[in-house]
Amino acid sequence: MRGVAAAEQSPSGAAVPRDASLRSGSLPPSPMPAAAVRDSSAAALIELESEWGAHNYHPLGVVAASGEGAWITDVEGRRYLDCLAAYSAVNFGHGHPALIAAARDQLGRLTLTSRAFHNDRLGPFLAALARLAGKDTVLPMNTGAEAVESGIKVARAWGYRVKGVPEGRAKIIVAAGNFHGRTTTIISFSDDPDARAGFGPYTPGFVTVPYGDAAALESAIDEDTVAVLLEPIQGEAGIVVPPPDYLPEVRRVTREQNVLLIADEIQSGLGRTGATFACDLVGVVPDLYLLGKALGGGIVPVSAVVGDRDVLGVLQPGQHGSTFGGNPLAAAVGSAVVELLETGELQARARELGVHLHERLEALLGRRLTAVRGTGLWAGIDVDPALASGRRVCELLAERGVLVKDTHGSTLRLAPPLVVSREDLDFGVDQLEAVLASLR
Ligand code: PLP
Repeated sequence: MRGVAAAEQSPSGAAVPRDASLRSGSLPPSPMPAAAVRDSSAAALIELESEWGAHNYHPLGVVAASGEGAWITDVEGRRYLDCLAAYSAVNFGHGHPALIAAARDQLGRLTLTSRAFHNDRLGPFLAALARLAGKDTVLPMNTGAEAVESGIKVARAWGYRVKGVPEGRAKIIVAAGNFHGRTTTIISFSDDPDARAGFGPYTPGFVTVPYGDAAALESAIDEDTVAVLLEPIQGEAGIVVPPPDYLPEVRRVTREQNVLLIADEIQSGLGRTGATFACDLVGVVPDLYLLGKALGGGIVPVSAVVGDRDVLGVLQPGQHGSTFGGNPLAAAVGSAVVELLETGELQARARELGVHLHERLEALLGRRLTAVRGTGLWAGIDVDPALASGRRVCELLAERGVLVKDTHGSTLRLAPPLVVSREDLDFGVDQLEAVLASLR
């Protein structure tokens, strides 16, 4: 049932297959017909991954081999519009020339020293990132979860050493529906059973309040509260945008009560929403930004905690670190990322194209979409669950040459690279419209 006969032209000239040859591997249970799993290279690669890898993901049956801009090509030459952008880690598109050049140049010079020595790339990167965030200190790490863990440690240390909370009593307020990563401490304050259940014992010291309710948050603060940790827009929850006065209220309350505000901008930050930080959209400056994903330009894992010295200065030598954090390759790529963001062009692009994307999605409301949320080039859409699961819609979209991933249930998240063209964006929404119309 696979073949080129069913291909159609995308605006970028890509041959996009309409057939159902997307495979899901042998585990977990594949929704694709067994006949679709043939001994082709894609099937063989999926089998290999399934046989030798831990099954902690349930990927769509697409085997990517190369990428350029907003497009991915699979091992059999099919092209797909990437509307996930590696959960916003590929904000600048696949193979951005400036980022690849920075990485290539650095690969030939020096890649890793550890922080036992200085390297000539780290200082310039830290200075540039601090300037971008309007802060004076940066703690470089690698993955998003590490940035979150680091932020938690910094907040607790600040609570004990600066605020005067008795040792061992620090509390951090988090929001229901949060997603901050997968470490044992982070899943301790997740309310997603898939992320949390069966991995205890759990780290204490977290209090969960409803997202978007500043009054509930205020009443949860007591003398042991050291920080509030929030996503300015909740990503994994389905691009949930809080009421516009929520973050400003939280900022007011946390300032009045001497509590740190930590904004997890790992997914929302660095251009995605049309602003450098999602906090900018509502005029809020947190005490700490947690950054990751796009900071590594889609090339290497780079994350950071960014704040002022009165907070980040609590860390002393030996109290925190990472062998790879701040390595010269990461710093070179991170500097190139900051340079791209300094011009503001990609943020403007996300703003303008975002208005177009949301207008088009909202036109589908009531026509099988029950909700559209988000801002900039970031949208969460709910498909009528009576019609199809999010997973099924993603599979149908992939057959039409568009890669999207469901978050929960029948919710999909759209997050194309910020370099996507308007025509390609329209192509993606056209395919979504066609898939929705085909649901029975
Ligand atoms: N924080 C947020 C808001 C995220 O969306 C994610 C990942 O999706 C993380 C933290 C964890 O990042 P990583 O997967 O790089 O550890």
